[in-house]
This record gives sequence, C-alpha cells and structure tokens, in this order.
Amino acid sequence: MADAEPLWTPDALVHATGGTLIGTHGVAIGGVSIDTRTLQPGDVFVALRGDNSDGHAYVGAAAGRGAALSIVERARVPDMPPEAPLLAVDDVLAALQAIGRAARERTRARIVGVTGSVGKTTTKEALLLALGADGPTHASAASYNNHWGVPLSLARMPERSAYGVFELGMNHSGEITPLVAMVRPHIAVITTIEPVHIAQFPNIEAIADAKAEIFSGVEPGGAAVLNRDNPQFDRLAEAARAAGIDTVVGFGEALSAQVRLLSVALQPQSSTAIADVMGETVSFKVGLPGRHIVQNMLAVLAAAKLAGADLCLAAMALASLGPPPGRGVRTMLGVRGGTATLIDESYNANPASMRAALAVLAGCPVAGRGRRIAVLGDMLELGPSGEAMHRELAPSAAGADLVFCAGSQMRALWEALPENRREAWAPDAQALLPLVADRLRGGDVLMVKGSNGSRMGPLARALIERF
Ligand code: ATP
Ligand code: MG
Repeated sequence: MADAEPLWTPDALVHATGGTLIGTHGVAIGGVSIDTRTLQPGDVFVALRGDNSDGHAYVGAAAGRGAALSIVERARVPDMPPEAPLLAVDDVLAALQAIGRAARERTRARIVGVTGSVGKTTTKEALLLALGADGPTHASAASYNNHWGVPLSLARMPERSAYGVFELGMNHSGEITPLVAMVRPHIAVITTIEPVHIAQFPNIEAIADAKAEIFSGVEPGGAAVLNRDNPQFDRLAEAARAAGIDTVVGFGEALSAQVRLLSVALQPQSSTAIADVMGETVSFKVGLPGRHIVQNMLAVLAAAKLAGADLCLAAMALASLGPPPGRGVRTMLGVRGGTATLIDESYNANPASMRAALAVLAGCPVAGRGRRIAVLGDMLELGPSGEAMHRELAPSAAGADLVFCAGSQMRALWEALPENRREAWAPDAQALLPLVADRLRGGDVLMVKGSNGSRMGPLARALIERF
C-alpha cells in the first residue's frame, strides 16, 4: 500500500463518525476490517458486536497485527489495551454506516445495486468483471449484503472508483430501505422474484414489494433493470415508476424485453449466447453453466450499458466468470473404477436454485458407465408449504439417474420419485454420507445441494477428503 492513495485518513474517519482519536495512530488507512484473522497492516479494525462474539475482545489482536486504528465504543475505552490506537464512537455499527455513507458521498463512481431472490452474488461478480474491463470497479465481497455488510462494502470503496457494485439482501420487509439509502445506486437491478424466505412473507407479491424497496434509494435520473420473464415484472415496473424512475429496462427471453436473448447454446461448464442489448447485438460466452446464469448475464449487460461501459469489453469479460465456493465448484474424485466429478452446490438451496442446479446436472455428459447423481438436503425457511415445494421438485430431478435425499423435508421428494431412480434417504447429511460414498464409481457426476443448515457442505468436503 506504500505509495497508493490511502483509502481513508484518521481525520476523514473522525469527520464521518464524530468520533475521538485516542493514542498514536497510523496516518494512512489502507482497508477496513471486521475480522482480525484477515486484517492487513494499516487497516482500520471495526469492533462490531455480533451474536456470538464482540469485536472489542479483539482490539489487542488487531493492534498486534498492525491495525492503524480500532473503532470502539466510548464506554469500552477503559477496557481497551493501552497500546491500541482507537477511534472512540457512541455506537460502532452506526459509525461503520456513517463511513459507508461518507464513502458514497465522496465518490463520482457509477453505482449499481443488485437485489433479488437468487442470483445476486453471481450478478454482482459478473458486473465486477464486466465493468472492471472498462474502468476501476469496486464490488462487495462475498454476499456482504446486510446491515453491516453493505456499509462495510461501501467503506471499502476507493474514492477514485469508476464503478461500484453492491449486493443488497433481505429476509424481512423493510430491510432494503435503509441499505439502499446508503448505496444510492444509479442503477437498481432485481435479478428475479422467487419463493425464498417465503416463511417470512404472506405471498410472493409481498416478496416482490420488499425487493421493490430498492427503488426508494435510486438517484434522480436512475434506472431499474428487471426480469421481463418473471411473473412479478409488471408489479416491479409499476413500483419503479411510482418511485420516479423513468428508465425501466426488462431483460429476458420475452419479445418485449429490451435486453433480449436471441440464441443460446448451453454447454456442461459454460454457455454461449447472443443478445440484443437495447438495439446493440452482443455475443458472449459465460464461464458458468445453466440457463439461469445466462439470464443473470442479460441483467449484467443491461446494467453495463446503462452505466455507460463499453459493451464489447463487458461481454468479453464474462467468459472468466467462475463459481464462488459452494456454488458449483467442481472437484475430481478418485473413486472405484476411475474418476467421478463432484459439483459442490452446498452453499445454499431454495426451489429456484435447486431447479437450476438439477438442470445443469441433467446437461452434464457422463463417461462410460457413469451416472448423474443428485445428493439433496432440505431446503429450509419455506414455511408451511415447504413439504409441497420439496415434492414438486420431482419433475426437475428427472435428469438425475440416481437421487440421494437427506432430511425430514426431503422425505417428501423421495416419496414422489420413481423407485428405479431413488437410491437412499437418510435423516441427515451425516447419515447419508457412507451410503453415497459406497455407491460412487468412475464416470459419475455428483451434484450436492441443500440449504446451509442441512449441512451438505460437510458432506461434500468429506467426500473430497475420502477420495
Ligand atoms: P444469497 O441470498 O445466499 O446471497 P444470491 O442471491 O447471492 O444468494 P447466488 O449466490 O448468485 O445468489 O446464487 C445462489 C444459487 O442460486 C446458486 O446455486 C446459483 O446457481 C443459483 N442461481 C443464480 N441465479 C439464479 C437464477 N436467476 N435463477 C435460479 N437460480 C439461480
Ligand atoms: Mg449472495
């Protein structure tokens, strides 16, 4: 970081937060950290209080690793190690949010906000590549999309970014409004509306309305990018217009989409497609498989065009999109009779992403006597209709030669499958593991997916360790 422009100075942080500097602090701050395990020398450490841990306990560790400053609550200053340089504030989370707002205020970057029921991170990562091909682009890390993730991501944005891309998430209505007020996007993208977290909502319209909160923070003259193929399109478009957004761009396969898919070739590990992007014909290759990914890329091209980026460069950059951990990462396993391919989709699951992953599995070629194997754990947070949503996956699982199921809800799918394709059911992932391991053979392609809480991740990791 030696001669790079500092991200922040202590004075700028005082100005943003109204805090008080205590001790001898570094003059240039290179990054913003909330975790001392990944803190870099020169970072400011934000001592957030979480459900399970309190950042104030790590201020000594932060100082030891070379933190320029730690942001702590005033009331806690007497407990802090004397050698640690501090910025004392009334409330640490509020201070982080103030820094996030200050980062947004000082930049001239074009800002894109991305929300939706699924596909936010995929779209955000693709926008990072697409806009990054045109100019310096900052994007949220991982799925940092909540009340601390959004301001943290903003606080990390270099002032001289040309573009900023932020993921906004929610589990309940009312959560997007304060997030978008910090982000103030020029372009608001809603990837799609699906029954995710449906347990918290009376119906799908209520989910759409909660996502539509993003329009409340769009900058004057800004645009909305919406999924033309989703049944909630009209509702969202109306909400955008009601919020004063005149430019509403639909993407999809519908003839009326302004960003329209003209043709697509789905391959096992990528896709190539041609789209009409508001009158400009663009062909692109995307480095992740599945029609759902192509759909997300239409949103990316729409946002890139609206942001004023070079569409050719943006389209070319999509080829290098790769899977984040637990979202389609492939590993070769040395099993009986050859190698099998594990597709690790264990990060999370809901009906939409389950269908998408099963479609990708169905499109995978298998070698020799290999089979397409789906190893599925419960989709959680679906409320009273959860069991039905599991059962309704049966047609989508038709492309799998063998299906393994774990968890009480997956029992419903299991019972709906034809006998020749259902291999085993177990009450949990751990109990399913030996049954899966026992059946693997050379040429198999195995896709492991379930909600985080159904612990399919440990199952996938155990398979990787064993083979
Ligand atoms: P989270 O709320 O967990 O942060 P997210 O909205 O960021 O999720 P992604 O991480 O992009 O979503 O994708 C999650 C899963 O959904 C992946 O398995 C991905 O393949 C699948 N997915 C992505 N986009 C779509 C889509 N448009 N339709 C259906 N499934 C999708
Ligand atoms: Mg995400």
